[in-house]
Amino acid sequence: MPELPEVETVASGVNERIRGERILSVWLSRYKEPFKTPPDPMTEALTGARIDLVHRVGKHIVFDLTREKAPLQWIVHLGMTGRLLVSAAEVPIPAHTHAILSLSSGRDLRFVDPRRFGRLAVHSAAEADTPHPFRGPGHEPLTISAADFAALFRRRKLSIKAALLDQKLLHGVGNIYADEGLFHAGIRPTRMAGRLTRAQLDKLHSALQSILRKAISLGGSSVSDYVDADGVAGFFQLEHRVYMRTGQPCLVCGTPIRRTLLAGRGTHYCPHCQR
Ligand SMILES: [Zn+2]
Repeated sequence: MPELPEVETVASGVNERIRGERILSVWLSRYKEPFKTPPDPMTEALTGARIDLVHRVGKHIVFDLTREKAPLQWIVHLGMTGRLLVSAAEVPIPAHTHAILSLSSGRDLRFVDPRRFGRLAVHSAAEADTPHPFRGPGHEPLTISAADFAALFRRRKLSIKAALLDQKLLHGVGNIYADEGLFHAGIRPTRMAGRLTRAQLDKLHSALQSILRKAISLGGSSVSDYVDADGVAGFFQLEHRVYMRTGQPCLVCGTPIRRTLLAGRGTHYCPHCQR
């Protein structure tokens, strides 16, 4: 499952490659699952639009589109196995391709997703009661202020790990970065979110942001693997301190890393460094 840094990497890689291009035609597969917006209105919305910007919102990849009619956004969620490929039109179409956007440069933007948990949708600000661009649920972990971050957890009667994974609070933080962020902040994942001090939450806020930024900067180097014509997946690996290191010595104190289950997810922590 791609997490925030991977989604950011894909979005910026696609943006560098196809920003400014026009969508000449659209092909969509016959499967129902990928299309949150039905295929016919999606085809109509995308055809002829110009791609002004591709960026990340939470774990969604958002295409800002200009059209003769009202502007629109095309929203791509990669799900478990979704990929976006920028390919020369003559490159054979891989199995499990669900969308092909033919671009003015002669290349294709292809959405490939073997397990079909990914979702494609059209977001129209004009149709909403109050026009607004796509925001997704929850707050953006990279830009939220320390005060707003602390306020999210006030009086929450659940573990801080479960609260971090709650996409209605923060969007884009998944299992890896929740575990790593809590380790860097010295907070045990089982601690009740509402009981943490402001100082602890400030530490967690800055730990999460710096880990996510570091992962994004490392990810930049693997962009080409991602959106290459041949579609080789290129998730980079940040060096994890606790995630998936059960039983191995803590890199700070040598205590074996423990694993427990919280919010249904494997949770890794150092019993000595995290209190
Ligand atoms: Zn330790």
